[in-house]
Amino acid sequence: MIIVSRDQWGARAPRSVTKVPPSRRRRFVVHYSAASPDQTPKSIQTYHMDGRGWADIGYNWLVDEHGTIYEGRGWDVLGAHAAGHNTESIGVCFIGRDRPGTVDAGPQARAAVRWLYDQACARTGRTLTRTGHRDIGATACPGDELHAWLHAGMPVDEPTPSPSRPAPGPAVPYPLPAGHYFGPADGPDRSVSGRYRRRFGGRSDRTWLRTWAHQLARRGWSIGTGRRWLTRHGNDGQYGPEYKALISAFQRDQGLRVDGLLGPDTWHAAYRNPVT
Ligand SMILES: [Zn+2]
Repeated sequence: MIIVSRDQWGARAPRSVTKVPPSRRRRFVVHYSAASPDQTPKSIQTYHMDGRGWADIGYNWLVDEHGTIYEGRGWDVLGAHAAGHNTESIGVCFIGRDRPGTVDAGPQARAAVRWLYDQACARTGRTLTRTGHRDIGATACPGDELHAWLHAGMPVDEPTPSPSRPAPGPAVPYPLPAGHYFGPADGPDRSVSGRYRRRFGGRSDRTWLRTWAHQLARRGWSIGTGRRWLTRHGNDGQYGPEYKALISAFQRDQGLRVDGLLGPDTWHAAYRNPVT
C-alpha cells in the first residue's frame, strides 16, 4: 500500500489533539466525500478547519480512487466524522462520489479500505463492526456502492496481473544539473519552472518538461487540453498545479516518493520502467 503522511500532503497542524486508546475502538466507519475525485486531503482539511471550525481534517484516514492512502488524524486520535460515535470509531473517507451505474470506488480503492480495516482490527485486537456512516447517522454517506460492499464483508478482488511492455524509447537523459528539479516558480534557484525560459543542454526548460510529459502520453496517459491531465493549459511546459498533479499521480503509479516535483528518479522512471 502507498501511504502518504501528513507531512507529504502538506497538512496544517491540528488546533488540538485528543488521544483515544485502541481498546476504546469498536467500529470502522466508512464515508465518501460525495464530491469530485480531484478533491485532495488538503482541500478537505481546509474545509473542515476553516469552513466547519474543526480542530483538523475530520477523518482518521482517507483513500483516493487510485488506492492511495492518506494519513488524516491517524489511528489513535479522536476524529470528527460520526457524531456521537467518534470515540468508538475509526473513520475512513473515500475521496469520490457514488454515481448510479458507475463503479466509483473501484478495486484499488476497495483494496486500500480493506487493508485499513485489517490494520485497524489488528491494532485494536478485535473484529471492528463494519459500519457505513448512514448506519449511525441521517445521511446518504457513504453511498449505495460502498455501503453494500461493506455489508457484503468488504470482499477484495485478487489483483489480475496486467501484461507489461517496455517503456517507449529512446530514453532521454535527465537534462538538469545535479540537485535541480522541475518545480514551482517561487521555489529556490534549483527549482526549474519554465517561467523564466532557462536553457539546459541547448534547449529551454519548457521544452524539457514538455518532452517528459509527452513520454507519459506515449505510455498511455491521457494528457492535453480537455483530457484527463493538463486539462486547462495543456502541455505548455510551465510547471503549475496541473503538472504537479500529473507528476504526483505518476509517482504514485510507480511507487516513488510522492512530492509532485520532477527530479531524476521520476524522470528516469518514465523512460526506463515497463508500462503496466
Ligand atoms: Zn460520512
